[in-house]
Amino acid sequence: MNDINDILLCDLDAFFASVEQLDHPELQGKPVIVGGSPESRGVVSTCSYEARQYGVHSAMPMKKALILCPQAVVLRGNMSRYKTVSLQVRQIFERFTPAIEFVSIDEAYLVVKRGTGCHTGNAIHIAVKEELRLPISVGVSTNKLLAKIACELAKPNKVGSLWLEEVPKLLWPHPVRVLPGIGPVTEKNLERHGITTVKDLAAYPAASIEQLLGNNAKTLQDYANGIDNRQLEFEHEAKSISEETTFPEDIYDREIIFTVLLELSAGVGYRLRTAGVSCRTITLKLRFSDFRTISRSKTLPDTVSDDMEIYRIVKELFTAHSGKPPWRLLGVQISGFEQGSQLSLLTTTLAEKKEKHLLQTKDLLRKKYGSEVLFPAKRLSRKNKED
Ligand SMILES: [Mg+2]
Repeated sequence: MNDINDILLCDLDAFFASVEQLDHPELQGKPVIVGGSPESRGVVSTCSYEARQYGVHSAMPMKKALILCPQAVVLRGNMSRYKTVSLQVRQIFERFTPAIEFVSIDEAYLVVKRGTGCHTGNAIHIAVKEELRLPISVGVSTNKLLAKIACELAKPNKVGSLWLEEVPKLLWPHPVRVLPGIGPVTEKNLERHGITTVKDLAAYPAASIEQLLGNNAKTLQDYANGIDNRQLEFEHEAKSISEETTFPEDIYDREIIFTVLLELSAGVGYRLRTAGVSCRTITLKLRFSDFRTISRSKTLPDTVSDDMEIYRIVKELFTAHSGKPPWRLLGVQISGFEQGSQLSLLTTTLAEKKEKHLLQTKDLLRKKYGSEVLFPAKRLSRKNKED
C-alpha cells in the first residue's frame, strides 16, 4: 500500500501466439501453439486462446498438447521478432510513465499518480490495440499483488481494477491458487487443513498458519488480505521522457519554433506530472536543414515539473545554440527524475497558487479530452492560422 501512486500490471495476452497471428492473418481464430517439437520432448511456450479452449497451456509437453488439440498449428517461434514487438510495447508504456519495472518480455508494472490508474490503463489498452493490433490486459490497484490479480481476473484483452476495500468481496471467494507463491503442492497442503479459498487463508489463526507454511506464512496471509509491501524495481526504469517534431519543410521563423517548443514542453510536462515525478535536466534537440543534429542540456539546482519552466529552459537553450536557420527538427527531453513534483510543495505566492491551479485544470482537461484544450494565448494565433 502506498499513499501517492497507483500501480498497473500490463500483460500481453498469449504474446508469442498473438504476434504469429498478427504476422500470419490466416492463423487468426485458429489454435496456435508456439513451442518445441513433440519429437524432442518440447513443451508449449505460449498458445493462443483458441488452443486454450482445448485445455492446452504453457509448459505442457507438446506431445500432450497435440493429443488435446491435434488440429493446432505448431510454430517454433521467432524470438528476435518478439523482442522487436516487445520494444514497441515498451515505448508505448514509456509514454505514460518513466517508472516501469519490466518483469518479462510481455509483462511490466507501471507506477502512475494516485487516481490516474484506470484512465492510464485504458489509454495503454487502446494504444496497444490500435498501434500494434495486439491484445493486452491491464490490472490496476495500489500494490503489485492486487494489480497482478486484477490483471489475471480481467484477462483476456481487458482492463480491470481491484482495490484493497474490495478484497473481501472480490478476492476472498477465489481458490488460494490465485495468490502468487501458492502452487499445486502448497494448495494440497492447505486443503488438507480445510483451507481452500483466499478467505479461509485470511481467517486462519496466524500461529497455526506458520506451522503449515513456515517462512512464507506471514507473506501469504498478508496476500490473502490484499497486503503487499513489495517495492517496484526500476533497474530498467525509463531514464528520460522526450517528444520531438520533424517539420515537413524548412523553418526560418523563430516564432514558429518557440510555439512548437511550447507544445513539446507541455507534452513532456504532462507526462512528467502524470508519473508523479519532477525533473532536473532539460535537453533541447535541434536538427538543421543539412541534417546536422545537436543536443544541448541544462541541469537545474532544483527540480521542475511545470510546462512553462521547461519551456523557459529550452527557449534559452535554443536562443544560445540555434545558429542560422533553417531548422528541420525540434525535440525536448527531460531527465534526472525525482519522486514527487515541485508542485506538491507549499506554494508561497498567490501567483504561484494560481499557476498551480491552472496546471491541474489543464492536466484534468487533457486527461479527459486526450489533447490540450487550454493553451497559452501565444499558441492561439498559430491554431487560428491553421483553421
Ligand atoms: Mg502475457
